[in-house]
Amino acid sequence: MQMKMTKLEERAIKLLLKYENSGMLQSELWHKLGVTSREGSRIAIKLEKKGVVKRVKEFANDRWTRRLVPLIKQLSITPIKGAPCPSCTYDHACGLERAVSPCICIRLEEWVLGQDIDTGMSG
Ligand code: SF4
Repeated sequence: MQMKMTKLEERAIKLLLKYENSGMLQSELWHKLGVTSREGSRIAIKLEKKGVVKRVKEFANDRWTRRLVPLIKQLSITPIKGAPCPSCTYDHACGLERAVSPCICIRLEEWVLGQDIDTGMSG
């Protein structure tokens, strides 16, 4: 699902993604964005409504404020780097229940078998 964002909202998300795990105090974000606290609060509320951040109440610098914690993560293309599909001449015709199927593709199978896949399981 693609959502419509203003330029300021996009900049806010880019900054927040740098603090993916801990989030950042909203006042720090307003400072980095160069906006007033009123404008900043409006952005934070919009991002919260869109499900992009959560606003967590926190006591910092002698007063109650909010920490903005991203609920989204940056994607990495590293896991699919080198996959044969983007440069495949059959890409346009390939798919489940199509003339060419990834289920029986030798090139894809060889690439998958050559990957060092971390399943997250140990033992
Ligand atoms: S699955 Fe095989 S045939 Fe299909 S696009 Fe990828 S490399 Fe090409």
